[in-house]
Amino acid sequence: MRWGDMRGSGNVEDRESVSAGGLGGGFKLGGVGLIAVLAISWFLGLNPLDVLVSLQGGDAPSAPTQSAPPPSGSAPGARDETKDFVARVLGDTEDTWSAIFRKGGREYRPPKLVLFRGGVDSACGTASSAMGPFYCPSDDKVYLDRSFFEDLSRRFGAPGDFARAYVIAHEVGHHVQNQLGITQKVAQQRRGASEARSNALSVRVELQADCLAGVWGHYAGQRNLLDPGDVEAGLSAAAAIGDDRLQQQSRGRVSPESFTHGSSAQRVRWFRAGLESGDVNQCNTFETARP
Ligand SMILES: [Zn+2]
Repeated sequence: MRWGDMRGSGNVEDRESVSAGGLGGGFKLGGVGLIAVLAISWFLGLNPLDVLVSLQGGDAPSAPTQSAPPPSGSAPGARDETKDFVARVLGDTEDTWSAIFRKGGREYRPPKLVLFRGGVDSACGTASSAMGPFYCPSDDKVYLDRSFFEDLSRRFGAPGDFARAYVIAHEVGHHVQNQLGITQKVAQQRRGASEARSNALSVRVELQADCLAGVWGHYAGQRNLLDPGDVEAGLSAAAAIGDDRLQQQSRGRVSPESFTHGSSAQRVRWFRAGLESGDVNQCNTFETARP
């Protein structure tokens, strides 16, 4: 992936140097913040599906015309390649989603991305690196643990850049869902639902984020930012993090009713749907009988 040609975002927050203890004293919004977000979006009465349809644009988003200086913040002399990579992929998602939202007559407000190591405080609570990357809808931030990211790189090896970018684009996909009011709708539906129903909804949310990551990948490809083999690497990354494969690896058996992210085949299917079409309307995992 030609990530060096992508525009670096200024929305990366580096918390590497802040100790977890130093953050501990801050107040936590926790559930209250989430409830406030839910209430606001619910009040707006957005139908997520209508919003997705309204985002339908016949044309591809235009290539970004602006160029920005490389991301700042690294110590002088020491190149922080992880941060540089993350900032550029994030910047590319900003360009893609801004263009798609603009076509739908809306404004895209990009998320912040917090790069951390070990543990981190978010408006959704305190997270450890064991949780993996996540998106917090209460503060509109993507949280990415450096060690997870470096592990991923080692696991997939070269050409693993696109697989790492897919992780960022998936979390940004959750931010897109949040901006469209989908996150709040689903949270409402999950409240009081059975565990099986709640898990099934979670799978649809996650598969949609995969598809939205694919939509980003589609436009990265159109802008000639992908190398041969990148798409295949991304698809095998999607397969590698399917619930069935992860459960098989950790427990030696698979229980589909406990899936929260979807099987390998589902994740590949939806990532591919976005990648091949570049169309958010192909990402309607909620109106498909069997996603
Ligand atoms: Zn997710």
